[in-house]
Amino acid sequence: MADTGPVPLEAKSPFELRVHLGDGVPEQTVREALASGDMGFLHSYTTGSTVDGPGVRIVVWTTGCMWRCQYCHNPDTWTITNGLPVPVTRAVEEVSKYREGLKIMKGGLTLSGGEPLMQDRFAAKFLTAVKKLGVHTTIETNGLFGERLSDAELDSIDLVMLGIKTWGTEKHRALTGQPIEPTLEFAKRLAAKRKPMWIRFVLVPGLTDDPDDIAKIAEFTAGLGTVERVEVLPFHQMGKFKWERLGLKYALEDAVAPTPDQAERACDVFRKAGLRAD
Ligand code: SF4
Repeated sequence: MADTGPVPLEAKSPFELRVHLGDGVPEQTVREALASGDMGFLHSYTTGSTVDGPGVRIVVWTTGCMWRCQYCHNPDTWTITNGLPVPVTRAVEEVSKYREGLKIMKGGLTLSGGEPLMQDRFAAKFLTAVKKLGVHTTIETNGLFGERLSDAELDSIDLVMLGIKTWGTEKHRALTGQPIEPTLEFAKRLAAKRKPMWIRFVLVPGLTDDPDDIAKIAEFTAGLGTVERVEVLPFHQMGKFKWERLGLKYALEDAVAPTPDQAERACDVFRKAGLRAD
């Protein structure tokens, strides 16, 4: 993929630490970009991903997130101006170059972050334009700002990958710093629209592995009726260096990845509720 200035837009991996790329953009311009969606702030692109939705995909990682998940592996995406400013037309052109290949590989475009709906106008314009190219569109979101998308804008999204982090108001606030209710409301709205969903759940031993909580997430998820798959994502420490480099206090310094058995047990809870889980 082509470069934007001195920093390549395409990252070698989403684990690249990227900061201050949009620092030179005047505050007024940032505000106008957020209001219009004509420009987005992007951490990077990844091409050829097979783990961010169906088939082989281009993933566009946006910057900006209101949440502070204890296990976040990309805290450099929290600040919008850590991202590169990219006109929406340019972002669409980049996807367009790959559109035939993406169709052949039964893939598409995934908009992720950060939290892409922090830049909801950009997300809406970008996804609408990419969908018009005939490319399958997916958004990965925590759902906090789901109400910012109109029903017509939701129609431009083929699949929503929704993160459900834990269960219960207090536990959710402790884990993410934000309430769980908007996420659950967004899930119900998507279900009412018969929108296909994948649910992403990060398994951290000692933090998100309470079987009762997982059972409640499974019950809620199964009740939605449009969830095609649950992904149980094992916690890892690949983002630890980012917390250290950014001078952030990292609560999971000593946390370990779940064993394959622990991951399988969590999947089984979802399967018992009638869901496909892996
Ligand atoms: S929602 Fe995603 S990007 Fe935001 S803090 Fe949580 S894990 Fe990180």
